[in-house]
Formats: sequence, C-alpha cells, structure tokens
Amino acid sequence: MIKLVIGIDLDDTLTETSKLANKILHENDKYKDLEDFHLLKHSEYQKFLKKHIKDIQENVELKEQAIEVLKWLKEKNFSIVIITARGSKGFDFLIPITEKYLISKKIPYDAIIFKQEKKGKACISHNVSLFIDDKENVLDEISEHGIKVLRMNNKNENSKYPSVKSWQNVKKYIQETFNLIVDEQ
Ligand SMILES: [Mg+2]
Repeated sequence: MIKLVIGIDLDDTLTETSKLANKILHENDKYKDLEDFHLLKHSEYQKFLKKHIKDIQENVELKEQAIEVLKWLKEKNFSIVIITARGSKGFDFLIPITEKYLISKKIPYDAIIFKQEKKGKACISHNVSLFIDDKENVLDEISEHGIKVLRMNNKNENSKYPSVKSWQNVKKYIQETFNLIVDEQ
C-alpha cells in the first residue's frame, strides 16, 4: 500500500519559536515594546538571530498536542516529512542542533530536508499530499505545484487556505480530508 505523506514545517508550525524569541527579545529594555522579533530592522534582526538562535532552537517548546498528533499520523500509516528553511544562509550549525532536538523530543518523522526557503520542489520529490506551514507566502509557492496546503494560522490572519490554530484541529482536518474513520476524539 502506498503511504500518504504529510509534510510539515518546523518553526511556528511544530514549535513555539516566535514565543520564545519574543520572550528573549523583551528581556532587552530597548525592545520591550516591539511586538515581534520579525519587526526588527534587518541588521538588528540578523544580530538578534546570530546571538540567540542556538539557544532558541535548543530550548524551544513544541506546540501543544503536536507530538500526539504526529504519533497518531504514524499509527494511521502516514509518512511524515519535515521541510524547513533551517540551515540556510550560513546557519548550517542549526542542522545538527535540530536533529538532536528531534531525537530528544522523540518526534516521529521519516525524513527531514533542510535549507528549503521554497518548499514546492521538495514536496514534489517526496510525494507530499498535504503540507502544513505557518507562512502564507510559503504556502503560495507550494500550492503553485498543485499540492494541498494547510495553514497553521497562529494569529488568525486572513488566508486563502484552510487554516487551523492547533494540532487538535490539524488532526480533525486530516481525518476529514483523507476520509479516516473517526474512532477517537
Ligand atoms: Mg514556519
């Protein structure tokens, strides 16, 4: 039987990256009123990442229920492929950190592809049936390749895609989309 493949992003889809980054940002008085670290000026953003990204990615928390839903996907015979931009633009050192993190958190997955700022081609080559990401522009590029996408819509922004705010709702969406028998809550 051919396995269906679910593709997932890491930062702000599987993990609470922005939450931790913003917590660290707000410890600095200079930035305590800035809502989000993505709003830093380019040079300051780069400086912030260089200084803190290792700490952030070693210690970031998983989103609630994420691991339970990934385990459920494996029980339902899906493959899980993680496709992430981590490791690109001189951040190669994040690759072993990420691999170690996934092992320590016992995240079930079948493959991980790093350095993908555009993810459509990787989705095609790994036969991804559904890709889950928090960024609208990432999903735009993936859906151009004819791949079904789901937005982890953390801030309830407008989206042209089906959106969820939690992993419980990812599970519900997958049950409905792939006609799985609902045998549990
Ligand atoms: Mg992301």
